Amino acid sequence: MKIPEKQRRYCPKCDKHTDHKVRRESQGPRLNPSAHSKGERKSKRRKKGYGNSGKSSKQVSGEKPTRRVDLRYKCQECGKEQTIGRGFRVKRLEIER
Ligand SMILES: [Zn+2]
Repeated sequence: MKIPEKQRRYCPKCDKHTDHKVRRESQGPRLNPSAHSKGERKSKRRKKGYGNSGKSSKQVSGEKPTRRVDLRYKCQECGKEQTIGRGFRVKRLEIER
């Protein structure tokens, strides 16, 4: 999928439509790889001891063929960056100049 780099969008700071530059946010590493999150603790507890490990027994299937893109729109007038929506799933994304 191709999208234009320059788009005319609404800027809440300027309170009008201005030119925006599209940028793709790079994916950072997981914040806490050691994982002490609630879900991680729960799955650890389930796997312990005998018996069924519940949800953790299931084999997790491979990666999905598409990823959700994380786009940022930067206002060319005030320089504020906006995130609009949750993005969309697409295999390939090209930002056209
Ligand atoms: Zn603005």
